[in-house]
Amino acid sequence: MIPPIFVSHGSPTLIFDDVPARDFLMELGKTHPRPKAILVASAHWETLEPSITASPTPPTIHDFGGFPEVMYQQQYPAPGDPELAARIKALLDTAGMAATLDPARGLDHGAWVPLKLAWPQAEIPVLQLSLQTHLGPAHHLQLGKTLRPLAKDGVLILGSGSLTHDLRSVSWRGPNEEPEWVKSFGDWVNAALTEGRVDDLVNYRQRAPNAARNHPTEEHFLPLFVALGAAGESARMEQLHSSVTFSVLRMDAFEFAA
Ligand code: ZN
Repeated sequence: MIPPIFVSHGSPTLIFDDVPARDFLMELGKTHPRPKAILVASAHWETLEPSITASPTPPTIHDFGGFPEVMYQQQYPAPGDPELAARIKALLDTAGMAATLDPARGLDHGAWVPLKLAWPQAEIPVLQLSLQTHLGPAHHLQLGKTLRPLAKDGVLILGSGSLTHDLRSVSWRGPNEEPEWVKSFGDWVNAALTEGRVDDLVNYRQRAPNAARNHPTEEHFLPLFVALGAAGESARMEQLHSSVTFSVLRMDAFEFAA
């Protein structure tokens, strides 16, 4: 069993930013058991129905604008795994969530930024699973549950988003002071995960303090539910990391050990 993980990926420049979240990710690949493949549910791929990358050589996608040229030169040449993609599609199809294979899609920065830090050799096959943001947390929890056999079989299910994600309030050069409305939400999620309050988490928009302010849109929070679902009901959350960048982006990471 490879414990599923959720990571906050922050800005694409995390690759170069000298912050604790980068140091954490650089250690992650050394401390976490080496998976035989990695399936990433990234905030940066949204489709109407679940889709899985199926290219044997997924290209690196530079899905951002206005960053220094060096960001567009970054590559993460990990192989894909079309056979595993077909297995994932079969699992989802059997569970009634009709999935499609995407043989052209590459790896977006929600996938390659944390992976380049954690597993810089890019030797482990990487696949991505798209989000259906319009279907909310319960759907993504179910997606994760359906993928649980993969975790048992040595595949790392990696949710990549952000514990908080109000980009309108980001202070690119400001101090890393965490405002109360960010801290209260981040701490609520940590407590709910620690206490296994899955129902509260699924209904976080109604029950968590400042939920809509921290997630004006949900796509950066939903990958958490994929990891949580894949972990299984008896899994225990371990907080792997907590920090804040750009004043309002909580960079927490969680592991869900059986
Ligand atoms: Zn992002």
